[in-house]
Amino acid sequence: MTDVKKLVEVINLKKYFPIAGGLFQRTKRAVKAVDGISFDIYEGETLGMVGESGCGKSTAGRAILQLHKPTSGQVLYKGRDLTQLSSAELRAQRPDMQMIFQDPYATLNPRHSVRKIVGEPLVINGKMKKGSLELKDRVAELLELVGMNPAYMKRFPHEFSGGQRQRIGIARVLSLNPKFIVCDEPISALDVSIQAQVVNLMQDLQEQFGMAYLFIAHDLSMVKHISHRIVVMYLGKIMEMTDRNTLFDDPLHPYTQSLNSAVPIPNPEIEITRTRFILEGDPPSPANPPSGCVFHTRCPLVTEECITVEPQFREITPGHFVACHLANTTGGSKIFIPDSKKEPS
Ligand code: SF4
Repeated sequence: MTDVKKLVEVINLKKYFPIAGGLFQRTKRAVKAVDGISFDIYEGETLGMVGESGCGKSTAGRAILQLHKPTSGQVLYKGRDLTQLSSAELRAQRPDMQMIFQDPYATLNPRHSVRKIVGEPLVINGKMKKGSLELKDRVAELLELVGMNPAYMKRFPHEFSGGQRQRIGIARVLSLNPKFIVCDEPISALDVSIQAQVVNLMQDLQEQFGMAYLFIAHDLSMVKHISHRIVVMYLGKIMEMTDRNTLFDDPLHPYTQSLNSAVPIPNPEIEITRTRFILEGDPPSPANPPSGCVFHTRCPLVTEECITVEPQFREITPGHFVACHLANTTGGSKIFIPDSKKEPS
């Protein structure tokens, strides 16, 4: 990705939500939903972001778009710090940066026709006049782009399936030609059979228009096919970040290894014989995160150092970043080494 321009730079981003204390409670407590994350997103790239629910990934997506005001840190879009913009400057920037939500039904006004839903951003942003033929033609074009019959523009959201509603949501987002889209679990609510269709559509649109995606999902199988690189989050922090193939073939963080071992392998012979590592328990509360490494309460490789010292987010090999004391190039942080990779004794 070195020859491609950085579009978004997230620098030590934090989003804490204060917890209302009791009458005599003096210390201010906070839920550390996002706790110091840094990464770049390049033009035309899909960066997958995964982690269990409650790990802060949706909050991160919203904080990047400034839908949640960050507690601290920077978000540079084309080199401009979004956290420093006035409301008017941010509004002017909005068409470039859009969001696709998990539940399209909740975000599409049930009383509005598809024509109004898809065309509304163009009217609100003063690009086209309400009721104009130009607007109608553009809505028809957008519906065709997402694989829907333009004749459906007179219908209402309840007349469509979940997959079709997500397509309508995507058409609405596309209307302003965004360069960056945060996709917040866009396929999680859909039937498995429909998920691949929506992912394929999003990939086709990216090839056609070159926008970048931050694609949020709760398991690795959902981001596997669409992502160029993947960020793994746990309790508001990034545990590992690397390109897709390295993440699946050589994950170095024990948490990534556990997520990876839950992804089904299409070959039944390998699937039946491989070793799985199933994480036990739930993640601790982000209002009271563990000391040292936040993963230490669930990690099978935990050491004394892990309990007291927070691991640095280090670049182990070019482009492969891991937050684990044991991570090195010789597999020190591997929960298990596959037989095929073991040294002969
Ligand atoms: Fe496990 Fe320690 Fe690595 Fe954290 S730093 S992932 S507890 S081995």
